[in-house]
Amino acid sequence: MKTDNSSVISKKFAALGLVQDFDFVLHLPLRYEDETALHRIGSLYPGQMAQVEGIVRKAQVQIRGRRQLTATIEDDSGQLSLRWLHFYPSQIKAVEEGRLIRVRGEVRGGSFWGFEMVHPKVSRAGAPLSDRLTPVYPATDGLNQPQIRKAVNAALSRVRLDDTLPEAIQQQYQLAPFAQAIQLLHNPPKQADTVSLIEKTHPAWERIKFDELLAQQLAMSLARATRQNQKAYAMKGQGSGLVQRLLAQVGFALTSAQDRVSREILADMQHSYPMQRLLQGDVGSGKTVVAAIAAAHAIDQGFQVAVMAPTEILAEQHFKKFSAWFEPLGISTGWLAGSLTPKKKQQAAADVANGTTELVVGTQALIQQHVSFERLGLMIVDEQHRFGVGQRLSLARKGEQQAVAPHQLSMSATPIPRTLAMTFFADLDVSVIDKLPPGRTPVVTKLFADARRGELLAHVHEVIRQGRQVYWVCPLVEESEALQLQTATDTFQRLQEELPGLRIGLLHGRLPTQEKTAIMSAFHGHALDVLVATTVIEVGVDVPNASLMIIEHAERFGLAQLHQLRGRVGRGNNESVCVLLYQTPLSTVATARLKAMYETQDGFEIARRDLEQRGPGEFLGMRQSGMALLRFADIELDAPIAEQARDTAVLMQAQYPEAAAAHLQRWARQRADLLRI
Ligand code: ADP
Ligand code: MG
Repeated sequence: MKTDNSSVISKKFAALGLVQDFDFVLHLPLRYEDETALHRIGSLYPGQMAQVEGIVRKAQVQIRGRRQLTATIEDDSGQLSLRWLHFYPSQIKAVEEGRLIRVRGEVRGGSFWGFEMVHPKVSRAGAPLSDRLTPVYPATDGLNQPQIRKAVNAALSRVRLDDTLPEAIQQQYQLAPFAQAIQLLHNPPKQADTVSLIEKTHPAWERIKFDELLAQQLAMSLARATRQNQKAYAMKGQGSGLVQRLLAQVGFALTSAQDRVSREILADMQHSYPMQRLLQGDVGSGKTVVAAIAAAHAIDQGFQVAVMAPTEILAEQHFKKFSAWFEPLGISTGWLAGSLTPKKKQQAAADVANGTTELVVGTQALIQQHVSFERLGLMIVDEQHRFGVGQRLSLARKGEQQAVAPHQLSMSATPIPRTLAMTFFADLDVSVIDKLPPGRTPVVTKLFADARRGELLAHVHEVIRQGRQVYWVCPLVEESEALQLQTATDTFQRLQEELPGLRIGLLHGRLPTQEKTAIMSAFHGHALDVLVATTVIEVGVDVPNASLMIIEHAERFGLAQLHQLRGRVGRGNNESVCVLLYQTPLSTVATARLKAMYETQDGFEIARRDLEQRGPGEFLGMRQSGMALLRFADIELDAPIAEQARDTAVLMQAQYPEAAAAHLQRWARQRADLLRI
C-alpha cells in the first residue's frame, strides 16, 4: 500500500530521474566507503575515512560559542576526540561514558589534543563488519544514503539483468557480462580496486560506458533510418541555370572548399529522403553563399526555400544579402519575423502559403504553427545550435509531420570536435569549409589590462583617422539582462566623453528592431565610427571596414563567444586587431581562456579547448535542458570506446536486430527525443 510518505519519497527519487526499476539499477555510485575493517586509533592519519571502536572516556555538552557535544574515545593504541555541532538527545545517550562504541568518519586535525572526527557516524560495537564496500550514491535533499541503497537493492532483486550484448561481441571487446558489472559497481567486494572504481577505469565501468555509448549510437542510426523512410522532393532536374546566374551575381569566385561543400549539398538534395546536413565553417569562411547556392538549386526546381536565423539582427542581414542576390534574378523574396505588425505578418505568411514568395527569410516565426508553405523544399537554419532545444524539436517535428519533408541545411560557426560529432551528431552529415576566402589578413590579438585603457583610446583615434571603424564590445553581465543594458549604456556614455568628436552608436538587444536596423545600416554605411555593442553583434554582422575590436571585461566571456566576436574583424584587407581588455586579478580559468585566444585563431583548436574547459553540454545548446548527455562515459577520454560502440552498433543492427532493440529499450528511454535533434 502506498502511504503519503512513500509517495513523497517517490517524488524525491523521481527528481533524480529514478522511476522504474531499471533507473535504479543504473543509478551508479559516485564512490565507496570502506566499512570492511576497523582501524586502530594509534594508526590514524588526517584525511583518512576511518572506522574505529573505543570506549567513551568523557562526554559532555559544551557551550563554546555554540552548543556542541564532545566526547573522547580510547582503544589500546590511543585517544580520539569526537564532536557534533548538531545533535539529538539520542546521540548524547549513544556516547555515554564507559560505553564501547564504533564510530566512522573523516579523521581531522593533528592539534595538541590529537586527532578528531566531526559528526562521525556512531554504531554498535562488535557488529559484524561488511565484506563489501559501501556505495555512496548521487543524492538529493531529503534522501539519505540508506534509503537510496535500500531502493537500489530492492530494484536489483526484482529485475533480470540479462545481457543485451551477444556473446561474440562481449568476447571481441573483452567486456564483462552486464549483470556482473552492475552487481560489482553497486556492491564491490572489499578487495576491489577502489581507485579504478572511482576513476571509472575498472572493467565494470568499461562495460557500462560501452553500453551507454552503444545505446547512443543505436538511437542515432534509428533516427537516420526514420529519416531515410521519410519522403522529400528529389531535386534532380537540370533547371534553368539559376545557380550559375547567382554565382555571376555575387561578384567573387568560390574557394575550392566552398565549391566542394556546395557539391556535397546539391548531391544530398537529389535524394528522395530529406537531407540533414550541417555546414560547418569558421566565422567568415563564407557559408552564406553556399547556402544561397543550395537555395538557388531548390528554387530552380520549383520549390520554396526558408532561411531561419536565431536573432532578428542576423536574420535581417541574411534577408539583405539574399534579396540583393536573388531579386535581380527575378526571384521573389520575403521577410517574416516577430517584430512585423500583425497585418504585415499576415500578408507575409499569405505570400508564403500561396507560393508567391519563393525565398523567405526570418526568425523562428517561420516555424510557428500558422505558417504553412505551398511547396517548401529546403529549410536553411543558421547558427542552429543557438536555437533552444524546444525550437529544434519543433523544427524536427514540423518536418516529420509533413507528408513530404523539406531538406534541411544547418550552418554553424561553432566547430564541433570530432568526438562530439561522432557521438551526438551521427545522424548529421557534415560538410566543412576548412579554408577562409582569399585576401584575409589574420587578426592580431592583444591582451590589455584595464589600466592601459588610455593608451587604447589613442589607438582608437588613430584607427579612425585612417578611415576605419571600430567595434567596442560591452562587458557581459550574465546575471541580469537589465544590468547588462545598464552597463552598455554606461559604456556608451563614457566613451562619448572619452572619444569626443567621434561618431559613436549604441546597439543592444533591447532596442526596437527598426532602431537596431537603422544603427546597423549607419555603421555599415560608415556614418558611424565606433559601434558600442553587446553580444548582439556576435553572429553574422559583416562590416569589412571595421578593423579594430575591443572587448571589455574579456575575462567574463566564454571562449567560443570570444572567438565569434573576434571573427567580426579581419574581414577586409586591412590589418585587424582584437584587443581583449581584462580586469585583474584573473581566475585560472579566465587566464586559460585569454591565453587560448592569444595563442590560436583556429576555430577547431578553440573548440577543443572550450570542450576541455566547459564540457559538452553547452556545445549542443542543451544547457537549459538540464539533461546530462552522457552520464557515465566521458566524451573525450572515452573516445576509443565510442569508436568501438559505433562499429558495434552497425554490426548489431545487421546481425542482431533484436538484441539491438532490447539494448536501446534498456538505455535510451527518456532520451529519445533529444537524440533526434
Ligand atoms: P560566415 O561563414 O561567417 O557566415 P559569410 O558568408 O558572412 O561568412 O562570409 C564572410 C565574408 O566573406 C562576406 O563578406 C562574403 O561576401 C565574403 N566571401 C565569402 N566567400 C568569398 C569568396 N569565395 N571570395 C571572397 N569573398 C568571399
Ligand atoms: Mg554567417
